[in-house]
Amino acid sequence: MTTAANLGFPRIGRDRELKWALEKHWRGELAAAGLAEVAAGLRAGNWRLQQSLGIEVIPSGDFSLYDPMLDTAVAVGAVPERFGEPFDLSGWDEEALGRYFTMARGAQGIPALELTKWFDTNYHYLVPELAPDQRFGYRSRTTAAMAREAAALGITTRPVVIGPVTFLRLSKRTDGGPTAELLDVLLPAYEAWIADLVAGGATAVQLDEPVLVTDLSAAETASLARAYQRLRAAGPARLTLATYFGGLGANLELAVGLPVDVLHVDLVRDPGQLAALVEAAPASLALSLGVVDGRNVWRADLAALSARLAPAVARLGAERVQLAPSCSLAHVPVDRTREGDLDPELASWMSFAVQRLEEVSLLARALDGDPAAVAGLQDSAAVLAARRTSVRVRRPEVQQRLAAVTADQARRGAAFPERAAAQHARLGLPPLPTTTIGSFPQTPQLRRLRAAHRRGEIDRVTYEAGLREATADCVRRQEEWGLDVLVHGEFERTDMVEYFGEQLDGFATTAHGWVQSYGSRCVKPPVLYGDVARRGPMTVDWASYAAGLTDRPLKGMLTGPVTILQWSFVRDDQPEAVTARQVALALRDETVDLEAAGLPIIQVDEPALREGLPLREADRAGYLGWATEAFRLVAGGVRADTQIHTHMCYAEFGDIMGAIIDMDADVISMEASRSGMAVVEELARAGYPNEVGPGLWDIHSPRVPSAGELDGLLARAIDALGAERLWVNPDCGLKTRGWPEVEAALTALVGAARRARRLLTPAGCPSPGRG
Ligand code: GLN
Ligand code: ZN
Repeated sequence: MTTAANLGFPRIGRDRELKWALEKHWRGELAAAGLAEVAAGLRAGNWRLQQSLGIEVIPSGDFSLYDPMLDTAVAVGAVPERFGEPFDLSGWDEEALGRYFTMARGAQGIPALELTKWFDTNYHYLVPELAPDQRFGYRSRTTAAMAREAAALGITTRPVVIGPVTFLRLSKRTDGGPTAELLDVLLPAYEAWIADLVAGGATAVQLDEPVLVTDLSAAETASLARAYQRLRAAGPARLTLATYFGGLGANLELAVGLPVDVLHVDLVRDPGQLAALVEAAPASLALSLGVVDGRNVWRADLAALSARLAPAVARLGAERVQLAPSCSLAHVPVDRTREGDLDPELASWMSFAVQRLEEVSLLARALDGDPAAVAGLQDSAAVLAARRTSVRVRRPEVQQRLAAVTADQARRGAAFPERAAAQHARLGLPPLPTTTIGSFPQTPQLRRLRAAHRRGEIDRVTYEAGLREATADCVRRQEEWGLDVLVHGEFERTDMVEYFGEQLDGFATTAHGWVQSYGSRCVKPPVLYGDVARRGPMTVDWASYAAGLTDRPLKGMLTGPVTILQWSFVRDDQPEAVTARQVALALRDETVDLEAAGLPIIQVDEPALREGLPLREADRAGYLGWATEAFRLVAGGVRADTQIHTHMCYAEFGDIMGAIIDMDADVISMEASRSGMAVVEELARAGYPNEVGPGLWDIHSPRVPSAGELDGLLARAIDALGAERLWVNPDCGLKTRGWPEVEAALTALVGAARRARRLLTPAGCPSPGRG
C-alpha cells in the first residue's frame, strides 16, 4: 500500500486563532494556561482533520507558539546568556513562556534574536546565537509532549525535528566562526532528544534537512554523514530525512547513502530527480515523494501525476513509497472552501492545505488501484484542462505586447550622467536632499476608518475623504519638518502588494488566505492567475492630490515587479520571467501616467528582490537577469528628467551588487544604520555609479537617534561616497511607527542634513543644478 503522508500543517489556525491568542497573551489579557489551551485545541483539530482526510503519516511537533527554529534552539539548550539559563517549555508555564517570548520579541534592554528568511520562502525564523564554546543539552521536551498529546487522542504521529546540520547552517556564531564546527558538541543533545521521543512511544521521527538542496560545504557533507550515523543509533525509530525547496542535485548520492529509513524529496521543484533516485536508492530506503506543491496554490494534475508515478511505484514496490506535499504546508493558506466570495471558476483551480492533503490521499489510493480513486483523478484533469484554455488566463493583447518588447524599452533613453544633470536642473534640490521611503504611520484611527469601510458602516466617499485628510495632514507635516522630497504617505494601501493585486487584471485576492510570516504576523498574498493588464491608473489620483498640496517635489510610489511576484502566489503555467515582464509592462504604463500628471520623481520599491535569489549559485545569474530586466522595463518609459528611485530593505548586497548596478535606478535607498553604514563602503568599492540614500534611522526600533549619531553616520557616508551623490532618509517605510517618534526622528534627520551641508567645501559642492 502506498502511504499518504504529511510533513507539516499550518499552525496559525483557520481563523488565525493562534495569532489572536498570542497577541492577547502579550497584552496581558490571556494567561499562559489560556494560551496553552488554545494551542492544544489547534493541534488536536489539525491532527483530527488530517486523519479524516486519509493521511496516514501525521506530523506532530510541527506546531510552534512562535517559530520552530526558536523551539529547536530551546530544545538543545542554546539559550544566549542575556535570556538566562536554558529552560523547558513543555509545561507552558508563565515563567518559561515569558523567557521564550523574550527570545522572540525582546524586552526592555534585552534585544531579541535576529529574524531572517527561511530559505527562499517569505517565512522568517529566529536565528539561534551560538557561542564559540557553546554547550548544548537536551533541555526542552515540547516535541515529546506534543507526540504524547496526540497519542492520548488515539492518533499516532511522526514527530518533526529540524535536523542538526540545517540547525547549525542557519545559526550564527557570536564570534563569526563556522557553526559546523559545533556539530560534535551538539549531537549528544539530538541523541537524547530522539531517545526521549522513542521512550515516549514514537516509532518514527522526521528530521528536516533542507540544506541538502543547497550547495554544501565539505564540512557540511561530512557533518551529514557523521550526524546520521549517530542519530541512527539513538533509538529504534524509523528515521525520515526530509529535503525540500529544490532538487538534491549533486547531493543525491550523499542523501541516498545516509543511514535513514525514508528519504523525502521535493518533486515539485525538481520532478526530474525521480528517475535517478529510483535508480540510486538502496533496497532498505523508502522514498517519500513530495508531489503536490506546498509552496503554491495551484491544484495538482493528479491524472498526469499518477501516470508519471506508476512506473516508479511499481519498481520500488508500494511499501517503499510515501506520497506527500513537497514541503510543510505552513506556506499555503488553510482551506480553500472558505473562499466563498472568490469566483468559483478561479476557486476550482486552487488547493490550499486541506485540499493538498485530499490530493495526496486520493493519489495514494488511486496508485493502489482503488477504482473510485482512479475515477476521481479525472476531475482534476478536467479542471486543469479548463484552466489551460480559460479566456481569463490568456489575453491575446497582453501576449502581443509582450512579444513586441524590444531591448531598448528596458533601458533609459539617456545614460545616468545626462539624466542626473537634467533631473538636478528640474528639481533644484539642495545637496544631501532629505526624503522618506513612502509610508507614514497607519494609526489606530486610520485602521478604524478602514475597518468601518470594510464592514460597510461608511461609504466610499466618506472613506476616501478620511484618507484625503490623512494625506493632507502628512504633506503638511513633511513641509513643516523641512523635508525636500515629499511623499503622499500610502494611507490608502493596507499592503504594498495587495494594493496593486486588487487593481490589476490577472490577480485575485482572497478573504482568508493567510499565511504565517513570523510569530503572530500573517500575510495574505494575492493570487496571480492570468495575463496581467492594467485597467487604468492605479496611483495617479492619490499622487496628484498630494502633489497639488505642496510646491515641493513629490515622489510617486510603486511596488516593483519582482516584489509583486515574490509576495504573491504566482501562476505555474509559464516561466516567472514572463510573468514578471507582464507585471513590469503594467507598471511601466503607470510610471508614464505619473510622469504625465507632473510627478518629477517615481520610486519603484524592490524590497524582495534579494529574497528571490535561488538557493543554488548556479541558478542565480538567470534569476538576476530577468529580475533586473523587469525593473528596467518599468523605468524605461520615462524622460531623462524624471527621476527613478528604488528601495531595498537590507544592507547585504554582496551577492547582488552587480544586479543593483544593472538596475540603473537614479537613486537607491537602503538599510544601513544597523551595520553602521558598512554598506556605503561596499557600494564605493563596487563602483556603484548612481545616487544613494543609505538609511540613517533604523525604523525597526522606536528609538530616535541622537543628533551626534546621525552626524557620525552621515559623515561616514560622505567620506565613502562623496556628498554629491548622497540622499538623507530613514531605513524603510514608517507605517508601523507612531507620529511622535516620526516627528522627532525626521526633524533630527533634516537637522543633520543641514549641518552637513554647511560643512561642504566649494570643492565638495554638488553639480550646478542641485546646489
Ligand atoms: N514604500 C514602502 C513603504 O514605505 C516600502 C516598504 C518596504 O520596502 N518594505 O512602506
Ligand atoms: Zn524597506
